[in-house]
Amino acid sequence: MKKIGVLTSGGDAPGMNAAVRGVVRAALDKGGEVFAIYEGYQGMVEGGHRIRPMAWRDVGGILYKGGTIIGTARSDAFRERHGRLQAANNLLQYGIDNLVIIGGDGSLTGAHIFAQEWPELLDELVQAGSISQELADNHRQLTIMGLVGSIDNDMWGTDISIGADTALHRITDAVDAISSTAASHQRAFVVEVMGRRCGYLALMSALATGADWVLIPESPPNLDEWENKMCEVLRNGRDIGRRDSIVIIAEGAQDRQGNRITCDYVRQVLQDRLNEDARVTILGHVQRGGSPSAFDRNLSTLMGVAAVDLIFSGDLTGQAHLIGLKGNKIVNTPLAECLHKTREVNEAVEQRDFSRAMELRGNTFRESFQTVRTLVRALPHDPKPNQRQLRIGVLNAGAPAPGMNTIVRAIVRLGLDKGHKMLGVYNGFYGLVHNQITEFNWMTVNGWAYLGGSELGTNRYMPENSDFYAIARHIEEHQMEGLMIIGGWSAYQAALELYNRRTNYPAFNIPIILLPATIDNDLPGSELSVGADTALNSIVDAIDKIKQSAVAARRVFVVEVMGRRCGYLAVMGALATGAERVYLHEEGVTLDNLRDDVAHLKQGFKSGKRLGVIIRSEGANPTYSTDFMCALLEEEGRDLFTARQCILGHLQQGGNPSPFDRILGTRLATKCITFLEEQIGKPDAESACIGLLRGSYKFTELRDLPRLMDIVNDRPKEQWWLNLRPVARIMAQPAPHKP
Ligand code: ADP
Repeated sequence: MKKIGVLTSGGDAPGMNAAVRGVVRAALDKGGEVFAIYEGYQGMVEGGHRIRPMAWRDVGGILYKGGTIIGTARSDAFRERHGRLQAANNLLQYGIDNLVIIGGDGSLTGAHIFAQEWPELLDELVQAGSISQELADNHRQLTIMGLVGSIDNDMWGTDISIGADTALHRITDAVDAISSTAASHQRAFVVEVMGRRCGYLALMSALATGADWVLIPESPPNLDEWENKMCEVLRNGRDIGRRDSIVIIAEGAQDRQGNRITCDYVRQVLQDRLNEDARVTILGHVQRGGSPSAFDRNLSTLMGVAAVDLIFSGDLTGQAHLIGLKGNKIVNTPLAECLHKTREVNEAVEQRDFSRAMELRGNTFRESFQTVRTLVRALPHDPKPNQRQLRIGVLNAGAPAPGMNTIVRAIVRLGLDKGHKMLGVYNGFYGLVHNQITEFNWMTVNGWAYLGGSELGTNRYMPENSDFYAIARHIEEHQMEGLMIIGGWSAYQAALELYNRRTNYPAFNIPIILLPATIDNDLPGSELSVGADTALNSIVDAIDKIKQSAVAARRVFVVEVMGRRCGYLAVMGALATGAERVYLHEEGVTLDNLRDDVAHLKQGFKSGKRLGVIIRSEGANPTYSTDFMCALLEEEGRDLFTARQCILGHLQQGGNPSPFDRILGTRLATKCITFLEEQIGKPDAESACIGLLRGSYKFTELRDLPRLMDIVNDRPKEQWWLNLRPVARIMAQPAPHKP
């Protein structure tokens, strides 16, 4: 039988609990035995009651908790060989030779050293008489799976670490709040965020909040003039009417000579040179705390499960690997390689080889930095000689999705900065028909980065008959050379209508670019759409609260979520909240399903269960409605439980966009502007939608879209996330039967 030890080490990170739950339940589901090692490596060195077997219920009800329920610590003893010898001895007392270690680069460095020493440690223990030769021979190979638990996102081998997304939530919430008070008083704020060697949090929060300046360790400003430059941008911003100035500084910000740039220094500069009443806010440990975001819960669960799957597969026995995320796929890489690359970046920063540091951080990081530098500008660059000046229309269409404003702001500013004319179309295709079109300037979109809803206005209006003629006329009148459409299913359909009428209406022969923005995540050509992450977080917040209320009353809740005939929100919501059952249109609902569920719930409540949550996607089945299911459960629950329904409704479309959606939206917008520049004026100009596919940004030509669409059900033919259903099912089942 496989015996697995799981521990959390180093700085805590929100999502660690979900990872522990994932490891424990996946291991038990496979018939393994799993031990929690409390207080990180210190617990491993101390042994005894610090190492305890875990049961299914021990990890129940922890998904929503921040920090780590099994404790974390820094252990000096484990840094010494003697301590590690002790640790090996303790593991062997339980027969543990598989470890899942959730921690930062320090913890994973320790893990690597431990793995390398393991055979020698065993020999030494045999020689000292602490363990028998037989025990040593039975456990010759130590297998380690490392999960990066660190809000800094500073480890090579994964696009993102456990906790970074939640930290971005904390930071963007704080900066959004600071912006409103700063604007009221026309104040400047200097905000310090975590990240000693890695500027990820600073950079991404600047991108997400629309901050006015950012300082990161990897790309310090030039020595003699950066203060002037920063002040110039902030001064220009004031001159054109910005009421607040926000400077975000990474903890490890430095200048090109390696001198630290502190918040106080920046504050003083603003005071002296701009006569600004600047305030400093150091966000500190708030960034680590609180309930993990939906993204972090699901990331951690999937990583935990993947670690266990790899251990049970036997393919990596005796090796140390790091479990990471690339695109939306869980991958694994030898730990040694990840540590080596991580060290390389850190060394580059320390040795002030900044171009190399930026190079090693990768494309996304570099491009994001470039984008921030453009977006923070108070005014666009002066046009270069011979620069093309294009006229680009921008509109929102379909249901509102959080992030639409962020995208419009980005596209307008990036376009203006390149010398183009940006034409805002109000009220979607209706506005295009009725000529509700205005030229936008830099300040039209000021403050839009964090606004929910759609300032441009959006609706499901479908052009028909004479509308096309009106649209063609307005495209010509405004001399639009390209059209950028941001929206959901109906936006895509309307765009296809224009595209398919190009022969009848020559005005439609302009490149059209579609950007996926809908909470439903039901669009072809992209694995993720902007807005879905925000909606998912709203769902998770609501279900957390519903669960608390249900526990008190022995109750089953049927929660209805949006998504029309696409079950994305339902499945991801269930994974993130531990809901026991999820109903979606893709799988359908049968009377037998319902009967089984009633039986399971009754069984559960009889043996002490206190709450049940069922998530039902709104389009799951027209007959077995939320009402019906709730009435059925109420009737059948009798004196065991009561049933209530909760239809989350439009709160899912509202709210300020999550950092993930803001970042995704901005990144997609930068690609769209480049696309339009490339296509406009080309003889065979293409029209396309942009999307995130297998970890990179890809364009799908409009002519290929219908092939990818399930027209009957208004969703893509292929949906990658359907593969996650088994994990959600395993995690949420009552304890598996012992073989
Ligand atoms: P993080 O994992 O968040 O980077 P630390 O760097 O503090 O946090 O590391 C956590 C623990 O990992 C340390 O207290 C120590 O027990 C162990 N550790 C870190 N580096 C090493 C090392 N080089 N050798 C052995 N153990 C280490």
